[in-house]
Amino acid sequence: MVWAAALPFHLFPVADDMSTAMNSEEIYVRTALQRLALDEGAKRYVMGNPNLYRVLLAASRPFIGGEVRDEALACARQLNRAGHKVTIDYVGESSREHSVVDEAAAEFLSLADDLLKTDLYANISLDLSHIGLLIDPTLAVHHLCNIAGRLEDSGREVIVSAESFVRVDAVLNATKASLGKQRNIGVTVQAYLPRTGRDVQSLLSDSPALVRIVKGSFDPPLGAYERGEALNGAYLSLVKIVADSGTPVLLATHDPRIIQEVQAEIAGDRLDPKLIRFEFLLGIAEDRLQTARMQGRSTQVYITYGKEWFLYLCNRLAEHPPNLIPALGRALKAITDHQ
Ligand SMILES: Cc1cc2nc3c(=O)[nH]c(=O)nc-3n(C[C@H](O)[C@H](O)[C@H](O)COP(=O)(O)OP(=O)(O)OC[C@H]3O[C@@H](n4cnc5c(N)ncnc54)[C@H](O)[C@@H]3O)c2cc1C
Repeated sequence: MVWAAALPFHLFPVADDMSTAMNSEEIYVRTALQRLALDEGAKRYVMGNPNLYRVLLAASRPFIGGEVRDEALACARQLNRAGHKVTIDYVGESSREHSVVDEAAAEFLSLADDLLKTDLYANISLDLSHIGLLIDPTLAVHHLCNIAGRLEDSGREVIVSAESFVRVDAVLNATKASLGKQRNIGVTVQAYLPRTGRDVQSLLSDSPALVRIVKGSFDPPLGAYERGEALNGAYLSLVKIVADSGTPVLLATHDPRIIQEVQAEIAGDRLDPKLIRFEFLLGIAEDRLQTARMQGRSTQVYITYGKEWFLYLCNRLAEHPPNLIPALGRALKAITDHQ
């Protein structure tokens, strides 16, 4: 954990283990947290209540780069020094007001300008619903192309995140409309959705700069693959489809079985390592990230910053319930420190 030790708020670190099997109580907690993540009223309540905001911010600290851009850039610098690329997300989603969308788009452009002034090996990730998708998809396309255009000459990418399954068509349509205009746009696909194989084939015909493959963190629809063999199989077949097309893959998973499988494919010359970038979320499975780097793989860390970390915190706790106890410890410490 070369870089983790230098980051603040690791007093109660993120829990980690090798197992993904959950008991029925954990499944209940996961589902409740996944639903809470998408509850816009709950997010507003937390953001409008300074004490609750402060305590939950403490709980979310190991997962986020900070509240402001400079903190995220400092975190990016540390990670770059440790040999990892980064992607930075000014976190937020589901914006329904023009003023919020305008502010988010301006912040992403300022982030792009800051990156251009540095030699940081960093690109940008964003949610299209943060920059206008729910108001007017053409607005999101406009902002996405502007941000990507700002970075294009520097060789940096802008990667569109995958949102709740009810938004898949809207996100993919807006992304495909943008791919025709900018060449440095990447897209995220969720392996837990059985439709994703078809979506990927369609996306590849529009030549995305790269395809990030995730399992999927939102409350799944009926028919979605559960965590386990079937999902891992679907994940690996997406890796093959994308890599076979010559398109770079962001292998965005901490799952040791998928990582080992991909490493074995690379070792057996069945997968070109130049097409695979191992991508981890900040503060999670840092030992696996470090191992991948030490084995000479291209690695990338996803950093978020901003004040809208509520959904992000809920998802990180939902996908790994052992995180709840350390998160509670950080929250309790924030309460006692304040007295
Ligand atoms: C770079 C990146 C971008 C992402 N973007 C999106 C997106 O746009 N849309 C979307 O729906 N999802 C996104 N995700 C989240 C993703 O869908 C999964 O929910 C998340 O990565 C956990 O799944 P996993 O693949 O690591 O496998 P899992 O089976 O969930 O976990 C495998 C192992 O990884 C470790 N682990 C996983 N999560 C945690 C955690 N929170 N804390 C501690 N250990 C953990 C544990 O050891 C666990 O046993 C992204 C993930 C990454 C890495």
